[in-house]
Amino acid sequence: MTRIESAPRHPHYASVSADEWADWRWQQQHRVTSRQALSSLLTLSADEAEAIDALEDRFRMAITPYYLGLIDPEDPHCPIRRQAVPSLGELRVWPGERPDPLAEELHSPAPGLTHRYPDRVLLYTNHNCAMYCRFCTRKRKVSDPDSAPRKGELDEAIEYIRRTPSVKDVIVSGGDPLSLSNERLAAIFEALSDIEHVETARIGTRNLVTLPQRVDAGFAEVLKSYQSRRLAIWVMTHFNHPREVTTEAWDACDRILTAGTPIQNQMVLLAGVNDRSDVVIDLNRRLLRMRVKPYYILHADLEEGIGHFRVPIATGKAIMADLRGPLSGLGVPQYVVDLPEGGGKVPVIPDYELSRPPEDWRFRNWQGRSISLRGGG
Ligand SMILES: *Cc1c(COP(=O)(O)O)cnc(C)c1O
Ligand code: SF4
Repeated sequence: MTRIESAPRHPHYASVSADEWADWRWQQQHRVTSRQALSSLLTLSADEAEAIDALEDRFRMAITPYYLGLIDPEDPHCPIRRQAVPSLGELRVWPGERPDPLAEELHSPAPGLTHRYPDRVLLYTNHNCAMYCRFCTRKRKVSDPDSAPRKGELDEAIEYIRRTPSVKDVIVSGGDPLSLSNERLAAIFEALSDIEHVETARIGTRNLVTLPQRVDAGFAEVLKSYQSRRLAIWVMTHFNHPREVTTEAWDACDRILTAGTPIQNQMVLLAGVNDRSDVVIDLNRRLLRMRVKPYYILHADLEEGIGHFRVPIATGKAIMADLRGPLSGLGVPQYVVDLPEGGGKVPVIPDYELSRPPEDWRFRNWQGRSISLRGGG
């Protein structure tokens, strides 16, 4: 069993006190946001240096010192680096790509809200994140101060939920909701608990991965005080690579879980990051050790400028087939594609069915053996 270890610190931060390092405000204030700053910490390739400048106005760079420590400075193809450091691939538009591939704006009945399925809505609270992930699917909004929800928009969105009784589940998203203060988050949960027909709220955050220090005692207290028979709160997070599972992340998950809040993981399948079954198995085993349930593996959608991250669906299916059997069923998530035009999520399943009625049901098991099932109807 590999040990879960503390995130290494880049030598540049060796003299930072333990208190400062553990303080999310310090981490936030010392984010690496310029080419000059990053080039004093890592040897940048010409491609990376050019991309950082070129993308400054479109989808800027921000890396917390904590997350930077996970980068292997010796490895130009480091999977953590790929997620954090811009590359020229982001400037390319690939066939089929578009700025709003999931038609989130089209299915928006109120500003800052997407309502696609009958019983659940996505609520965008703000457009800031601790780190800007290079594969982000909401680049058109995230990190752009001009598109941040106006004051009062959140109230309008809550009003829509209040007058729409079919909505039972509210996905509090962003950007990252944990960019808001604990007080503002408490106000959102307060408003949602007040709406009779809302049964569950999910808060989607990558801070457990990029800035686990932000998941502080105050946030745990907010979760604990709003968990009730009226409103169940779940946390949805986004670990993509085993190296992201650190003692800092473990502690942050523990604070959430101790507040009675289950955590689910939505991994995005990314070329050069996690497009190998051994990497996904390692990640999911580590997630289970943190008591985080692997919920989805998401196929990267058709957002512009992420073509260099996209993995063929056939590879995704092969990875899924490799998980089933060797890995505890608890560690096997669903692989889903989010269809264009707002078609919604569809599971993609390895080919287990070899024949069906009027023939006998015949299945391929996890070892590849073909076995027929009498009495399968
Ligand atoms: C992904 C998504 C959801 C949540 O889907 P689940 O399958 O319930 O996790 C809800 N609304 C929108 C618009 C989504 O894209
Ligand atoms: S945390 Fe989520 S919303 Fe923010 S940049 Fe990363 S993927 Fe995009």
